[in-house]
Amino acid sequence: MKRDTHLVLLLLLVIGFSLASLTVWKVWASREQSLEDVNVHALNLTQALSTYSEGIVRQSSLLLLGLVERLETEGSGPAHIQRLQTLVKHQEPLMPQLRGITVYDNQGRGLMSSSRLIPASANSSDRAYFIHHRDDPSRETFIGPPIQSHSNQEWVITLSRRFNDAQGGFAGVVSLTLGIETFLQLFGKIDVGQDGAIGLSYTDGTLLVRYPFREQDMGHNFSKSPIYAKYLVDRSVGTASFTSSLDGVERLYAFRKSDRLPLITTVALGKRESLAAWRTEALLSAVVVTGLLSLTGLIGRLLILDIRRRTEVEGQLRQTQQQLLSSNQQLESLAMKDALTGLANRRCFDERLAVETRRAKRQSTSLTLLMVDIDYFKLFNDSFGHLAGDACLQKVGNILESCARRPSDLVARYGGEEIAIIMPDTDSSGAVVVARLILDRLRKENIPHTASSFGYVSVSIGIATATGPELGNSQSLIEVADKALYKAKALGRNQCVRGA
Ligand code: GH3
Ligand code: MG
Ligand code: MG
Repeated sequence: MKRDTHLVLLLLLVIGFSLASLTVWKVWASREQSLEDVNVHALNLTQALSTYSEGIVRQSSLLLLGLVERLETEGSGPAHIQRLQTLVKHQEPLMPQLRGITVYDNQGRGLMSSSRLIPASANSSDRAYFIHHRDDPSRETFIGPPIQSHSNQEWVITLSRRFNDAQGGFAGVVSLTLGIETFLQLFGKIDVGQDGAIGLSYTDGTLLVRYPFREQDMGHNFSKSPIYAKYLVDRSVGTASFTSSLDGVERLYAFRKSDRLPLITTVALGKRESLAAWRTEALLSAVVVTGLLSLTGLIGRLLILDIRRRTEVEGQLRQTQQQLLSSNQQLESLAMKDALTGLANRRCFDERLAVETRRAKRQSTSLTLLMVDIDYFKLFNDSFGHLAGDACLQKVGNILESCARRPSDLVARYGGEEIAIIMPDTDSSGAVVVARLILDRLRKENIPHTASSFGYVSVSIGIATATGPELGNSQSLIEVADKALYKAKALGRNQCVRGA
C-alpha cells in the first residue's frame, strides 16, 4: 500500500515537474522569439526609412550640384540669378519636402531665394553651414543641424554646397532647406506604440528628426547615448536593448548607418509594449498549466485515497478471513475430538482407520488395531459415582496415549469405556508389546477399584493385525479386534488376546 502511494506520488511529481518545466521553457522560448521578431521588424523598418531619407538627401544633393555647376560656369550676376530662379521654380514642385533654395554670396547675403518665406535679403553669415563652407574648401554637400527658420520658426534641415569663383576662392553657398514636417508625416504613419520612437541623426550624434516630435530634442547631440558610444563604434547595423536615461523606459533599439551618407536611422520600441502579446500568452499558459497541475494533484489525491480505502478494506477482509480460518480450525478440531477425554473421537477414528487400511494395502505394510475396554466399569461407577467414572476414563485415556507413542499412532474413544488404538506399520508381535505395556502401566498406576477382583482399574485388550493383501475393509479389522476382546473378557479380563 505504501509502495503504491509512493509510486502515485512519484508519478505526480514527475508529471508536475515535467509540465512546469516544459511550460517555463516554452514561455521563455516564446519570449525570446517575440523579442527576435521585434528586432527583425525594427531592423526592416530602419532599412526602409534609411532608404527613404537617403533618397531625399541624394535628390537634394543632385539639385545642389546642378545649381553650383551653373553658378560656377555662368557666374552670379543678376541675369544669371534670374535664370536660376526660374529653373528652381520649375524643379521645386518635384520635391514636396523642399522648403526653399537660397543662394548666398561670400558675405552671407542672400542673392536669390525660391521661397517667399525666405527673403533674399536675409543674411546667413551666422549659420553653421555658411561658416562651414566659408572655412572648408570641400565641395561635398553639408548636412547642417536642424534649425528654426528665421521667418516662420519652422524646423528645417539645411543641405548646402559651396560654389567658388574663377580663381577657386569662396564665392558663396547654395543651400536647400527640407521641412522636417514631411519626415514626421511619414514617420507618424508607422506604428511604434506609446513608448516607441523613430530618429534620423547625423553620424556625430546630432539629431535631425525625431518622431514623436519633441522641441527640446531638436539639434541635440546624442553622441553620449549607448547607441553611439557603445554599439555604433564597431557596427553599422544592429539591435540593442537598454533603459533610456531620459525617461527611464526600457526600449529595444534597431539602428542602421547609411552606406554612403553620414546618416543614422534609429527605430526604438518599448520593451514592455513589445512583449504585451507575449505576456498575455504567458499568463494564459500559466493559468492553464496551474489548472492542469491542480487537476493532476486532485486526481492523484483521489487515487491515493482510493488506494488507502481499498487497502483498509483488504486488511479488514484478510483479518476476517484469518478469524474465519482459525474458527474453522477450532471447529474442525472440536469435531474430531472427544469432549470428555480429549482423545480423538469416533468420527476421527473411522476416517483414520479407512485411510490407514488403504495405505497398508497399497504399501503392503502391517496395520494393528487394539480394542481396549475397561473391566467392570459399571461396577466402578456404581462404587464411586459417575463423576469419578469420568475422571477414571480420562486417566486411562492419558495412560493409553502415553503407551502408543509413534506419531502415526492414534488413540480414540470408540464408545463408552471402550478405547481403540490404530497403529500403522505395526505387526502382531509389536502390538502385543504395546498391549502388555498398557496392562503393565495400569497395574502400576493402581487406580483403586474395590469392586474388581484385581483391586485396581484394569483393561482387557483385543488385538487385530493384518498385512497388505490380507486386509479386507476397515470393518473386518474392527470385528477381529472385537472378537479378541470378547475372548480376553471371557478368559478372565486384565489381559490381551490376539485375534485371527
Ligand atoms: P466388563 O468387564 O464386562 O467390560 O464389564 P463392564 O461393567 O465394564 O461392562 P458393561 O458394558 O456392562 O458396562 C459399561 C459401563 O460403562 C456402563 C456405563 O455406565 C459405563 N460408561 C460408559 N460410558 C461412560 C462414561 O462416559 N462415563 C462413565 N462414568 N461411565 C461410562
Ligand atoms: Mg464395554
Ligand atoms: Mg467394560
